Amino acid sequence: MFRKVKPHLQNEFDLIARHFHRPTPQTRLGPGDDCALLSPAPGMELAATSDLLVSGVHFLPDADPGNLGWKALAVNLSDLAAMGAKARWALLALSLPAADENWLAAFSAGFHACARQFGVDLAGGDTTRGPLVLCVTALGEVPVGQALRRDGAQAGDDLWLSGHPGLAALGLRHLQGEIVLPEPLCRLCLQRLHAPVPRLSLGEMLRPLAHAAIDISDGLMADAGHLAEHSGRTAEIFLHRLPRLPQGVERAVALEALLCGGDDYELAFTASARQRSTLAQIAAQLDIPLWRIGRMCADATPPAAQLIDSEGKIVPMEKQGYDHFHALPSLA
Ligand code: ADP
Ligand code: MG
Repeated sequence: MFRKVKPHLQNEFDLIARHFHRPTPQTRLGPGDDCALLSPAPGMELAATSDLLVSGVHFLPDADPGNLGWKALAVNLSDLAAMGAKARWALLALSLPAADENWLAAFSAGFHACARQFGVDLAGGDTTRGPLVLCVTALGEVPVGQALRRDGAQAGDDLWLSGHPGLAALGLRHLQGEIVLPEPLCRLCLQRLHAPVPRLSLGEMLRPLAHAAIDISDGLMADAGHLAEHSGRTAEIFLHRLPRLPQGVERAVALEALLCGGDDYELAFTASARQRSTLAQIAAQLDIPLWRIGRMCADATPPAAQLIDSEGKIVPMEKQGYDHFHALPSLA
């Protein structure tokens, strides 16, 4: 059963008001009452997603609170982007060991900066004492029936990828002392790791064009595999069509990060070949590279995502790892 006595933080209400209550211009009733009241625009349905972040499991207890605030919201907004939804609201549930004003000021500044940048109102939440745990719920809206789902890929579709996934994983390996990244690559990789940018504009523009989409949180091969599996297809990914690898880091290391590294929150999506020129225009308009990295095949023989070399042979991925990628031929 629930405990009758809530383990209050000192000055809990002041704390919430000071750090979390901000203007909520697109919310009918924001924080303060028992519930927030949200009104999706006519003809829209809600897209809703939550992520639970536990200290010591998903982040280190001494993680920079400003980065944590940004990232806790950004990863949820990335899920909205992958559905083609417009981001509108967030709820924030916090369990805190203590009311550490400095930590809260930095955390909330990071969170609100992300909310402001992407037009999201913090509409409510919950705050209690306990081990450090963050739960963010993000809500977006999408015209009824038009969300980009994982299960819509069609045989013959092109498979596309945005941006340069892998940089965040390189940043993490650098922090863990496994590799040494030169500047300015190092700064770029750490920025991708700490402050990922959810691809919300891209997701919305893809809505009428793409058949299926997913955001890359577990790695390109894994997430393209999820999309393919949900769609009952196989994704063929061509080694020679992958994004250019960054300079200043060993090719094999960069390739492994690109294929298997998570945490970049780029989008992978499928679309018919007829959309190629429109997608090229969108890439130019948003200044986000879009790479046509593969295609969807009719059959669904595992593994759901396969890497294909320039001779058309499947590159075995079970031994995917640092050494394995040394053996691969150079990219064009
Ligand atoms: P209740 O006891 O009814 O759940 P609370 O005392 O937990 O209410 O919260 C008071 C108000 O402050 C609510 O409207 C709630 O949504 C809001 N709130 C609580 N914690 C947060 C937070 N971390 N961020 C934003 N709003 C919050
Ligand atoms: Mg409450």
